[in-house]
Amino acid sequence: MAVLRIRGLALPEGDPVDLYADGDRWTSDPVPGADLVAEGWILPGLVDAHTHPGANTPGDPLDDGILRDDLRAHLESGVTLIRSPGLADDPPDWFGRSDDSPRAFHAGRWIAQHGQFAPGWGRRPDPADLPAVAAEQAARTGWAKIVIDWKAGDDIVPVEILREAVTRVHAAGGRLAVHSQHGAGGAVAVEAGVDSIEHGMGLDPALLSRMAEQGTALTPTLAAITGSLARTLANPDRARTSWYVPGASVHARLTAAAVEAGVTVLAGTDTRPHGGIAQEIRALVTAGVTPHRAIAAASWAARAYLGLPGLLDGAPADAVVYAADPRTDLSQLDKPSAVIVRGKRVAR
Ligand SMILES: [Zn+2]
Repeated sequence: MAVLRIRGLALPEGDPVDLYADGDRWTSDPVPGADLVAEGWILPGLVDAHTHPGANTPGDPLDDGILRDDLRAHLESGVTLIRSPGLADDPPDWFGRSDDSPRAFHAGRWIAQHGQFAPGWGRRPDPADLPAVAAEQAARTGWAKIVIDWKAGDDIVPVEILREAVTRVHAAGGRLAVHSQHGAGGAVAVEAGVDSIEHGMGLDPALLSRMAEQGTALTPTLAAITGSLARTLANPDRARTSWYVPGASVHARLTAAAVEAGVTVLAGTDTRPHGGIAQEIRALVTAGVTPHRAIAAASWAARAYLGLPGLLDGAPADAVVYAADPRTDLSQLDKPSAVIVRGKRVAR
């Protein structure tokens, strides 16, 4: 099979590039007879930093067939890298490796508190054991995910325990993501110095500058929360009693403020069907984030946060190519002209 070649203008800088896939590495050294598969505006692939493939309904076991379909949907939408902050189970060996899968980071099964989170999913150690369980998970896969708050009135993981979890996860060489949808939970997460806050609904905007300083990322899952808000508001009984409405109503503003404050914001979809990263980018733009920064959150900036370089010599051979600049025409995101992962073109 001929070596694959792409040519065009590479974001974020818009520099001209002419790249050849030497196995799973990009090289600018010309390879005779290479197959020029696409020309245009090139990103190092899209990133969905918050997705839970492999199960249709909360509580369901991990299903190999559903997992495969979900990962295909990500690839077809231009996603070459995902982070799964929580899965129904440890994934099979091919996850993140096979031609059917984007690259992947994952946190194994969620870690939650007794009486909280989706029944059937996750582990619920005693509070004192949370740090050790998180560290053990992070040592295995690089990430652990703790659900630190749940419904209104539920206990929040105490800050001392979360701080110890951060310390032990970092000592194990990993990073800690936490689910938070309450202001008090967000405050605990920032105080404990977690690596990433997932959702962050209700977070006090006054904490954003500290998050930027200490490197706490935010994955706002904005389209998912905006969608849930619309469903909640459509049900007046639920809306009246819901803690959700106040936080969700200002979540777009909070997200834009986070970008403005210099917080690393990561695009994540959280919802089914999979492959909806373009909607999340649009939601960020609708919130007031510039298209350049919104796409950064779903591409090069997210890759850098997860430890992967952009379109450089020697970088992993991932890319998504568009006919026109997606920053000036967001509809391009729906129709990539080529998606390449590990030096191979994704059949679409
Ligand atoms: Zn989630």
